[in-house]
Amino acid sequence: MSTIRFQALREASTRKPVQFEETARKSAIFGSNVFNEKAMKQYLTSDALKGVQGAIEHGIKIDRKLADYIAMGMKEWALSKGVTHYTHWFQPLTGATAEKHDAFFETSPDGGDPVEKFGGAQLVQQEPDASSFPNGGIRNTFEARGYTAWDPTSPAFIYGTTLCIPTVFISYTGEALDNKIPLLRALSAIDEAATDVCKYFDKNVKKVTATLGWEQEYFLIDRSLAESRPDLMMTGRTLLGHTSAKGQQLDDHYFGSIPTRALTYMRDLEQECMLLGIPVKTRHNEVAPNQFEFAPIFEETNLAVDHNCLLMDVMQKVAERHDLKVLLHEKPFKGVNGSGKHNNWSLATDTGVNLLSPSKTPMTNLQFLTFFINTIKAVNDHEALLRAAIATASNDHRLGANEAPPAIISVFIGEQLTKVLEELEGVTTGKLSPEEKTDLKLNVVGKIPEVILDNTDRNRTSPFAFTGNKFEFRAVGSTANCSNSMTTLNTIVAKQLKEFKAEVDALIETKDMKKDDAIFNVLREYIKHSKKILFEGDGYSEAWEIEAAKRGLSNFKTTPQALKARASKQALDLFSSMGIMNNVEVEARYEIELEEYTKKIQIEGRVLGDISKNHVIPTAIKYQNTLIENVKGLKDIFGEDFKEIAKEQILIIKSISRHIEGINSKVAEMTNERKKANVLTSAQEMAEAYCDNVKPYFEIIREHCDKLELLVDNELWTLTKYRELLFTK
Ligand code: ADP
Ligand code: MG
Repeated sequence: MSTIRFQALREASTRKPVQFEETARKSAIFGSNVFNEKAMKQYLTSDALKGVQGAIEHGIKIDRKLADYIAMGMKEWALSKGVTHYTHWFQPLTGATAEKHDAFFETSPDGGDPVEKFGGAQLVQQEPDASSFPNGGIRNTFEARGYTAWDPTSPAFIYGTTLCIPTVFISYTGEALDNKIPLLRALSAIDEAATDVCKYFDKNVKKVTATLGWEQEYFLIDRSLAESRPDLMMTGRTLLGHTSAKGQQLDDHYFGSIPTRALTYMRDLEQECMLLGIPVKTRHNEVAPNQFEFAPIFEETNLAVDHNCLLMDVMQKVAERHDLKVLLHEKPFKGVNGSGKHNNWSLATDTGVNLLSPSKTPMTNLQFLTFFINTIKAVNDHEALLRAAIATASNDHRLGANEAPPAIISVFIGEQLTKVLEELEGVTTGKLSPEEKTDLKLNVVGKIPEVILDNTDRNRTSPFAFTGNKFEFRAVGSTANCSNSMTTLNTIVAKQLKEFKAEVDALIETKDMKKDDAIFNVLREYIKHSKKILFEGDGYSEAWEIEAAKRGLSNFKTTPQALKARASKQALDLFSSMGIMNNVEVEARYEIELEEYTKKIQIEGRVLGDISKNHVIPTAIKYQNTLIENVKGLKDIFGEDFKEIAKEQILIIKSISRHIEGINSKVAEMTNERKKANVLTSAQEMAEAYCDNVKPYFEIIREHCDKLELLVDNELWTLTKYRELLFTK
């Protein structure tokens, strides 16, 4: 009997839910491990507090002396909570978070008593060895010098016994080495551009904040079962495994009652989130068996991104306590739905208005339409770049696989708003007559709130959908750091709003138009211009692929193809003109993402080669030998009649040999293709070679292995099966 699999099954089936009791009401513990305003008021002098607030609200620099005071307060707060170490917490371009812990503990050089020390210098800046993080050639390794610098806009927090200080990661030559810097720059660009446009409608607006509410999908699998699968452990997904007889076809898991072990895990995780100030609110089952979702209340984007990064880490740690394993991969299992991370996005003013929420008066609705239409135009003009922002090897499994949004970016706005746009398209060119304006205000712009409420139709196949008071970017992958998609989205909308402002101002100044007339005129042209991106139909259908191609929309099904838009001339100009990233920074990211793609496929190829040859083939041979013994025995008893009697066994013996031959020859061919790809010098070409020449073998090899799984004695099969992974609760 196969030991690892059956041992894992035994462990999984005898597990009891870990005991967990909430220690307090959520509201009572929320943010208690965060150095938030409440903690700051208690531990900082009023000058230090003002300094931090100025940095958060207006980006004012904090001087060294003030930093010393802040650090002192932060240390006292942390020590009072049993903290021993501190770390700069940052997001290098690996996609994960990074930390290097230092103890507060210091000995005195003059032989005095040891003390707990933490000053402004340690708070503000640190120098981790940057050479081992991907930098896409920004710096040569011999001069690998980068530093992390405190980001006061995201509060420090305690995890375990460590004080974590969110930081940016930057090279000494000033280039961003992380995901956070471009995001912060994009958020400041959208603030500036949107605030300027808001002034047409309300002079009191001083700041616009981009908001993000992510929805995190994931699978939860028993730890022993997950660990019994080398492919899951090494690549995050199953590279083989015959689909289970029962999958998600009964739709009995979605929103069903949450299994006890999973629920206990979620409660524990929620408590951790509360302590860390992550405002999680919703938990439920997703479509696939053992698939779940977690969603918070939306927040300012930089904070929301940090919270999602932190959550992905905490999810794994809490899972360990429950003998569970979290699978964040976009497609851990063939044949059942994969996981995404919907990015709900909107813009909010410091006067408390959601700019993408229709409201009561025609004037504020004109403001809504302005931001709504500008967003549509931004997506229209930069659809390929948005696709590139979500391109990864793992997300390729989702996009276009008839379950997640397609690889074609389009915008869904619903029937009612489509009508509104149609009406606006008919607005007179030039100055509007008083009658036309009244009619527009009463019957088009003024009617928006009630129509939206009726508009409950939510097209789940759309990658970028308007959902009443926000846009939902649904094509983002479940493993992704949201900053990539958010940097891109906020940059393109910021750029668009700047252009809009310039066009409206020009009409007011040169054509002597009233503000409203000018806005209607510009919006009308935008609507005409952006038609190709609007799509209300079934995004999974073949008809849409054909239609989208006619419209000239991109449809890149693979990462190497999609990534080209990342470093296109249009993208380089966009990011540099908006001050988000210079060409070196953009090209470095493009390079890193290609390399990451190549490495992922390379690892998958190796693991598949290994398990198919070292697990599957030996098992198949073992079973085949049993059959051979059986046939031999039948021959001994029945003489020549055995051919008829052992007919089926002989067929299986032959079939096993055919599949073994298939695996061996295809693994050899695949390895050969890898070798050929490895000598290519361009990152783009290498990624394409892995995509086009190596990856296609995965399915062929898998097919042989999965057929063998059906033939071979269940007792001998070493790899935990799909039904066991997906249905063990
Ligand atoms: P679903 O899309 O699953 O139907 P909801 O529409 O209720 O769920 O909301 C999903 C997410 O949208 C939540 O995380 C919520 O915080 C977020 N959200 C709601 N309003 C906004 C907003 N103005 N800006 C950003 N995110 C928002
Ligand atoms: Mg959603």
